[in-house]
Amino acid sequence: MEPVVIIGSGLAGYNVARELRKLDRDVPLAIVTGDGGEFYSKPMLSNALASGKIPAAIPLNSAGQMADQLKAEIRTRAPVTAIEPGARRIRIGEESLAYSRLVLAIGASQIRLPIPGNAVDRILTVNSLDDYARFRSVLEGRKRIAIIGAGLIGCEFANDLAATGHQVHCIDIAAQPLSRLLPASGASFLQEKLAAIGVAWHLGTSVAAIERHDDAVSLALASGQVLTADLVLSAVGLKPNTELAEAAGLAHRRGILVDRLLVTSAAGIHALGDCAEVDGNVLPFVMPIMHAARALAATLAGTPTRVSYPAMPVLVKTPACPTIVAPPAAGARGEWLVERTAEAVKALYLDGAGKLLGFALNGTATAERAKLARELPPVLA
Ligand SMILES: Cc1cc2nc3c(=O)[nH]c(=O)nc-3n(C[C@H](O)[C@H](O)[C@H](O)COP(=O)(O)OP(=O)(O)OC[C@H]3O[C@@H](n4cnc5c(N)ncnc54)[C@H](O)[C@@H]3O)c2cc1C
Repeated sequence: MEPVVIIGSGLAGYNVARELRKLDRDVPLAIVTGDGGEFYSKPMLSNALASGKIPAAIPLNSAGQMADQLKAEIRTRAPVTAIEPGARRIRIGEESLAYSRLVLAIGASQIRLPIPGNAVDRILTVNSLDDYARFRSVLEGRKRIAIIGAGLIGCEFANDLAATGHQVHCIDIAAQPLSRLLPASGASFLQEKLAAIGVAWHLGTSVAAIERHDDAVSLALASGQVLTADLVLSAVGLKPNTELAEAAGLAHRRGILVDRLLVTSAAGIHALGDCAEVDGNVLPFVMPIMHAARALAATLAGTPTRVSYPAMPVLVKTPACPTIVAPPAAGARGEWLVERTAEAVKALYLDGAGKLLGFALNGTATAERAKLARELPPVLA
């Protein structure tokens, strides 16, 4: 019997495998991954400095330990080069591997901005353990850090770096940090708290050019200001990895298109995690992966199961300013109702009838998270 093949060993790939093993001890299972196959919690990467973790201490299990636990064959450093849906096999270079069912858990990639200048190759991004190890080795002995992008990942790294003695500049084209997640008042609260631990903000501007100067780089901002940094980290957003699916003729839009059964446009091929667009939703977070992994495992084990998403608030790991967001669905119609005190911002997104559609909590208001989350509508009922 051909194995169930999972491409990718991130949280999506490994969680489907774990859930499947709870339901079926015997189905042959193979995991093929482009990286080292370590099992680790990716969210830890943006607070590992302050928590004193070196990259080697981040993995919870090696690929070998995962293979034993999951009773699976795990192929590491084996980038899949093609999918052949008609023949039900994948290609890893010259080699081919047949599957009974295929799961795409191939994640997303950090977007790289086309910035002019001769130091573009010095811009780092972090979206994997390998990236993080590189980032930490470059960071060694360097103090001045420029972060391009003040979204969730940019703000978390800004906090982690500033809290560990680095001089942090954070640049974003939007007029506020977390522009997709926080209303203006919550954003200015977060901005003040991070400024208090040393983060310098450059908002409403962009990097026009980046040039190297010996070991450092200069960043010319569109505002006219010039910054000097020893390390540049870019965190301007993620793009789902759709190329493999695209080349195989699978339907894709922002992500690889799947329905509520997490089936792509090709029979026997599923997708979940950061690479997938589930019934119109691209949600690059851990909680949607956990729900999708459970549903998909049940489907793979013989009980077709539609994925449901409850409301899934996201904790922003900025200890200088505890923040929890549950953004309203795209296209939701309503208005923010905001209460601000010295210690907190509580922002509720309400529709015309006063129904709660989303929230953003900063500071001590985060204590209300559980109560408010119960009032929210599910993301996918
Ligand atoms: C710094 C950081 C902090 C975060 N913090 C939070 C947080 O606090 N809360 C939260 O909810 N979310 C957070 N996230 C997001 C969350 O970590 C991701 O949504 C999640 O880890 C994605 O898992 P994934 O398995 O879909 O993708 P990935 O982890 O990207 O895994 C993709 C896998 O596919 C493999 N792959 C790709 N292409 C191929 C190929 N062609 N052949 C073989 N293998 C391939 C890769 O090697 C990898 O193993 C954070 C993300 C980052 C970067």
